[in-house]
Amino acid sequence: MPQPAYKRILLKLSGEVLMGNQQFGIDPEFVAELAREVKAAKDTGLQLCLVIGGGNIFRGMAGAARGMDRAQADYMGMLATVMNALAMQNALEQLGVDTRVQSAVQMDQVCEPVIRRRAERHLEKGRVVIFAAGVGAPYFTTDSGAALRAAEMQCDALLKGTSVDGVYDSDPKSNPDAVRYDTVDYDRVLADNLKVMDASAVALCRDNQIPIVVFSIREKGNLARVLSGEGTKTIVQKGA
Ligand code: UDP
Repeated sequence: MPQPAYKRILLKLSGEVLMGNQQFGIDPEFVAELAREVKAAKDTGLQLCLVIGGGNIFRGMAGAARGMDRAQADYMGMLATVMNALAMQNALEQLGVDTRVQSAVQMDQVCEPVIRRRAERHLEKGRVVIFAAGVGAPYFTTDSGAALRAAEMQCDALLKGTSVDGVYDSDPKSNPDAVRYDTVDYDRVLADNLKVMDASAVALCRDNQIPIVVFSIREKGNLARVLSGEGTKTIVQKGA
């Protein structure tokens, strides 16, 4: 099936891809590499929203598992996503790409609050808008934040750049016979609990008919390939 040409997309990157080959934190060289891919995508005329997770720094669930109050730990996770957003903003601006960070947790000294109409204007002016702090509430993830912003900004697709090259019928790390879907329906993802995004994010995309394109961002040049309809990926959509 030929892939539709997107005009506006939301790219979700998990925090872990900012680590590069480190075990924790941010590898500036790797962020610069990612920024080059984002710039190349933007240079094709695409309007680009970005959401970056925080798992390379802190996840609320991990804090809670070690005895922390879950909401408090989630606040820390949200702050981690702001750090990642600022790192990506820095890398993009060093390449001459105009950007704005909009955070769902207000911090006026470092970035804008989330204001949809302002974000629209930024996109029209060719700026990349990086949405930070997820949905701005604990007990959610940046996957849900990405789905919410994709719906709010009327994106044509949500691209999930991760460390696997698509959605499999079982875990490819433990099952060598696992099969990758080219396309799969939202309802199958939910019913079979396939590891794409969390259920609330998948349901939000389903209800707003936003295709989810899952691909590996670790392979150089893959974002451009996937955007041009090539490359290895899985598309989660209705009726697949
Ligand atoms: N988080 C949250 N609410 C949100 C988004 C994120 O509380 O709307 C917190 C949560 O603790 C989460 C952490 O921020 O674990 C980092 O986000 P996420 O786990 O989604 O990052 P990723 O796995 O994509 O790197």
